[in-house]
Parts: sequence; structure tokens; C-alpha cells
Amino acid sequence: MKKIIEIARELQDSDSHHEELVWTQFTTGYDFGIDDAYKKIVEIYSDKKKYDLIKDYGEKNLSQLDKRRVEILEKKFHPYHLSPELVELDKRIQELSTKLSGILNTHRAKIDGKEVTAANITEILSMEPDSEIRKKAFLARAQVNFPLVDGGFIELLNLRKEYAKLYGASNFVEYSLQREELEVEIFDGWSEQVRSTIPEMEEERNQFAREYLSSEYLAPWDEIYLKGKIAPQLNKAVDMMGFYEPVKALFGRFGIDISKDNTTYDIFSRRNKSEWAYNFPIRNGVDSRILANVKGRFYEFDDLLHETGHSVHSFRLPPDDIVLNMGDSDIIAEGIANLFGSFSTERIFFEDFFKGEADEAEKAFNKNNQYKKINQLRSVALILFDQRLYINNINTIDDIHQLFWNTNKEVLDRDPYNDIPAWGFKIHHTSHPIYLHNYLMGDVTCEMLKKVFCRKNIVSSIMEKPEAFGSFLVEDVMKVSGAYTYSELFKKISGKKFSLDFLK
Ligand SMILES: [Zn+2]
Repeated sequence: MKKIIEIARELQDSDSHHEELVWTQFTTGYDFGIDDAYKKIVEIYSDKKKYDLIKDYGEKNLSQLDKRRVEILEKKFHPYHLSPELVELDKRIQELSTKLSGILNTHRAKIDGKEVTAANITEILSMEPDSEIRKKAFLARAQVNFPLVDGGFIELLNLRKEYAKLYGASNFVEYSLQREELEVEIFDGWSEQVRSTIPEMEEERNQFAREYLSSEYLAPWDEIYLKGKIAPQLNKAVDMMGFYEPVKALFGRFGIDISKDNTTYDIFSRRNKSEWAYNFPIRNGVDSRILANVKGRFYEFDDLLHETGHSVHSFRLPPDDIVLNMGDSDIIAEGIANLFGSFSTERIFFEDFFKGEADEAEKAFNKNNQYKKINQLRSVALILFDQRLYINNINTIDDIHQLFWNTNKEVLDRDPYNDIPAWGFKIHHTSHPIYLHNYLMGDVTCEMLKKVFCRKNIVSSIMEKPEAFGSFLVEDVMKVSGAYTYSELFKKISGKKFSLDFLK
């Protein structure tokens, strides 16, 4: 396996270099040669000698883990040996996606002619009592649709469609899921399943609207505001210069010491810096970087804990097992990150922020979590919209908008809230297509993990044994996840097949 490891190491070096350049683009707006760095990666994948060697190993009598290692690499190399046109298309897709990410990262929305950041918009949506002002802020998110499409977004869709066809998949969704070792059938019935819960969900949402907003109905620009009404603690002003200590303490409660991890945080907004939050795992176990944009509100800890969860994950992987780490599922990664994000509203985290009023805060956060749970399946509309961009014919920006409204109507039974929906600001459609399901499926996975842990440890909540739960996550999930496909891992831990029903 020595030669296989050598190939993996070469790939890792090129990947790390590429990631560093993307990090620079996302934090400063400068592109110091992302396309060239990507070409280097493609060169390695296209090397026939390397591919033949990997295939030869596939024929050998190997241990189960080595077999998995070879399988992971072979799947990664395979698309680069089908036709030169595919390799060319791959490069063009990458170049266009980099260019469009640049447009998204440097774009700033305007409200009444005045430039605002995404963090400003979130603050307005969280705290502004005047619903007309919130509406304006919400709709400002739709502005970027136009420069995005002018820059070539529809061409990007077409290139991806062409790629999938040439690859031999029935469409780009099927292609992407295959690459992720997921079966397309996993999404069968989601739309209907969500749709059937809508009448009850709407009733419960409206009840919240009546109780907290004295209104009969929740508009899209009311949703974040409502959370702050249920739990005003979310909007509490905090000094983010001191963000690290509480984050470190939270992970410490789970027996995880993040001070040993080489994690760089870049958390304040700047001109030309991407406006969202990411983790760049530059190299597992060596270098991890977190980008965020905080203004100094308690709710922002959700993002900081989420991204730190990613970083913790990358530092708990065995750094020398490069190939198995490549097989780590995005669902597991997003699930664990979401789980740590959700701890921001658990007593274990917030106690110090609300001294003397922690009981009250707990009550409010519990109520807020109840509201969150009611809404959990709503993300399916966006997941399916993202998929349908590759299944439907899209020729104009209006086609995209129509598709957005149609999907919203079908899944959520919602009519258009305006002429132009806000979708382009979600960078996933550009940089990470067919990715949004990872968050929801990650949440399902974590519900499963909590249930399994509680059953095995005879406790009613993971908070009764946080250290044991932390060690369960690290040892039985993070460290081994690359050795299995996602579906295998889910079955191995739970004894059951994946199903949205775990959310119940
Ligand atoms: Zn994430």
C-alpha cells in the first residue's frame, strides 16, 4: 500500500494548496491562482499510471480497510479517465464556479441605496420591530441573483448538466449523489412527506405568531424575528472579542480540548470578505481555519460552535490515514457541526451569559427549540429546488424564479412573497451544488446518535453524561466514519435504515 499512500499524499498536498488559495479569496477577495492550483489536482487525477496502479491494487487480496482505501481513491480517479472532454468540462466548471464565488463574496446588498452587510441584514431580521423594514431587508437578499446570473450562473448549470450526461448519469443530481455514495432513492417521497405535515405545521406556526407577534400569519421576514421574541436572550449584545473562552469551555464539557487544535479564526466582517461562515479544513490534524462574520450578538454563537465543530472533527481524524479521511461523509460532518451549534442554547453553554436568570433563559430557549423543531422539515423545499435546477430546463433568470415558487408551492403550500425570490445569496447553489441535504440528514443522524447513546448508557439526556457522549462522538463516529459509506455507518450504529422519521 506504500505506493497508494504516496499518491494520496501528493493529492493532499495539492488539495491543501488549493484550499489555502480559496481561503485567501474568501477572506480578502484576492485570487492568487486558484485555477492553476486546481489544474495541478486535475493533473494528478488524470495520471493514467497512477490510476492503473490503484486499479491493480483493487484486484489484490486486501484487508477490509485497505479495500475501502483503494475503493475511495478509485472512485475519485474514475471520472478523469472516461474521456478528455469530461476533464475539460470539469476544469471549466471549476473556473466558472470560482469566478461566481468571487462575485458572491464581494457583492454587498443595498437598502434604500445604502450598502449593508449580510450580518446587518440578519440583525435587522432579528431585532427590527417594524415588519416593513424587515421585509425590505429580507428582499435585499434577492439583489445578488442578477449579478450572479449575468456572471454566468445559467451557463454553470448547463456545464454541470452536460458533465453528468457525458459521465453517463441520468442527471447531475444522480451523478453528485453517486459521488457521495448515496442512493438517489433516499429522496423518494420527501416532497409528499413534508407536504402531508404542512397543515399541522402551519397551525402550530400560526399559534406562535398569535402568541408572540399578535399576528395571524408568519411571513418569511417574521421567522427570525419571532425567535428573538420567544427568546430575547438570543439577541443579547456580547463582546465577541472574548468569543474563544466560552467556545473552548463548551467543548471542554464534552471532554474535547480545542486549545490543542491549530484553528485560526477570522470572525469579523471586512470589505471583500465572504459574508457567511465556513470552515476550511486546510489539512486534517494540522491546519484548520474558520471564517465568520459576527456583530456581537448571542445568536452568533450557533455559527461559531458549528464551524468549531467542523474543526474539532478534522483534528480528531487520524492525520496519517489520508485516504480513509477522504471517505468521510459530509452528512456526518454537517450533523456533528449542527449538533454543537445547537448546544449554544443549552444550559451547559449559556449559563455564564445569563447569570442569575438562567432558569428563565432555559425556559425561553426550550420554547424556541420547540419552534425550531416544528420547522425542521421546511428545508426540504430548498433542497429540492437546488436539485431541480439540474432536472428542469433553465434558460432565463425567470425560469429559476418560477422554479423556486413552484417548489415552494408544492412542498410548503406557499404563494410567492414577492416578484423575485431570494436564492442566489445561498452560496451552495454556486459552490456546493446538491449539498443542502447534508444539513437535514446530519440532523437526522444526530437524533439517531443521541437515541442510541441514551439507550446504551441508560440516561434520558446526553447532558447527563457529556464527557461520555463526547468520547462516543469522537471514537465511534468521527474516527471511523471514513471506513464506511454513510448508509453503512448509519445502519452499523443504529441497526436501522436512514429515515426522516428519526426526527419525530
Ligand atoms: Zn457546516
